[in-house]
Amino acid sequence: MKRAADDPNVAAPSLDVKRLREDFPVLQRSVRGRPLVYLDSAATTQKPRAVIDAVARHYAEENANIHRGVHLLSELATTAYESAREKVRALLNAADVREIVFVRGTTEAINLVASSYGRGRVGSGDEVLITAMEHHSNIVPWQMLCEEMGARLRVAPIDDRGALDLEAFERLVGPRTKLVAVTHVSNALGTVNPVREIVAMSHARGVPVLLDGAQAVAHQTVDVQALGCDFYAFSGHKLFGPTGIGVLYGRAELLEAMPPWQGGGDMIASVTFEKTTYNVLPYKFEAGTPHIAGVIGLGAAIDYVQSVGLDRIAAWEDSLLAHGTALLEALPGVRLVGTAPDKAAVLSFVLDGVHAHDVGTILDQDGIAIRTGHHCAQPVMDRFGIPATARASLAFYNTLEELEALAAGLRKVAEVFA
Ligand code: PMP
Repeated sequence: MKRAADDPNVAAPSLDVKRLREDFPVLQRSVRGRPLVYLDSAATTQKPRAVIDAVARHYAEENANIHRGVHLLSELATTAYESAREKVRALLNAADVREIVFVRGTTEAINLVASSYGRGRVGSGDEVLITAMEHHSNIVPWQMLCEEMGARLRVAPIDDRGALDLEAFERLVGPRTKLVAVTHVSNALGTVNPVREIVAMSHARGVPVLLDGAQAVAHQTVDVQALGCDFYAFSGHKLFGPTGIGVLYGRAELLEAMPPWQGGGDMIASVTFEKTTYNVLPYKFEAGTPHIAGVIGLGAAIDYVQSVGLDRIAAWEDSLLAHGTALLEALPGVRLVGTAPDKAAVLSFVLDGVHAHDVGTILDQDGIAIRTGHHCAQPVMDRFGIPATARASLAFYNTLEELEALAAGLRKVAEVFA
């Protein structure tokens, strides 16, 4: 994740992409008679065989409920579940496994914080600060909280490249700010936010920070202790893992002080009709039977991604971004939306005179899968005065040839509408 304008001809870092692609069964299939060109990894990443097998193996060999069984299968499932928690801890370099809460995904993680942390800390006249590039899941929960508590949602602006106006951001962290919630990487624009600075500026005023890591974890090393953030949220399905599973990292001190979010089995220490006492972290926040297979699959995804190497992934994606940017900039009528100096491998663009949905539909005829629309970031579209973009979003399994296929496809689209 460096600069979009980096030289595409720099030596490609050592990643045997051709070999690694063989790990992904779906990448071997064809679509409409053409090899699949999958450029929609920001929506969800494809799954390597290791993840598919781990989920299947769990159901085939050790399926049981966790934490409460005395029988062998329950012990095996519990061990697998808890060892995945340790893998997440190590991935994020969290200080303690108690800080890793399994949830359904980024959306649920943010809602948990908005509900449990927000309701206790945000009162009438207080403020929650976000940015103008957030995904709806990092807008709406705060809006709902603010409405309920009589608080105010403040929005830090972005510039014409889609970069955060850091000075304006700092000015907005005021005495009434109770929480800052910012995306690490924007799904609609690819902007990588200066999250260390954001955390430092916020902490200087005593304001905790939640980072939405949905678009970051699969593309770069994330170290929550180095970032200093208070909460970090991500989804397994954007990290080559299963859908329906995600993570909320929270600093133990904050999680300890927060009330449970949902009530039910597993989150209690004891229950009587008079009084219930709650379980210790992280179980206090994991009511009910969790997505056991999902957690195990996520653990396998983390093993996989670490075997590839997040630093090598980041370097390869930088090359892909530089190449893709150069190809798209050379196409007449194409305008990139999101050209921040620090960018992830997301290419959002508009094509003169052609609706984004038509771009996507025509590319699909050639087996090229991109996303079109507002990308759950309608305020970003409003900021740029457009209804939608076409978005090619990359992962380490993408190749330079696939980007060339995209460019060729776009030339065809332009001809159809000429
Ligand atoms: N934040 C960002 C930046 C995202 O890209 C997404 C998914 N597109 C989300 C949050 C929500 O993730 P999920 O739907 O997995 O909860």
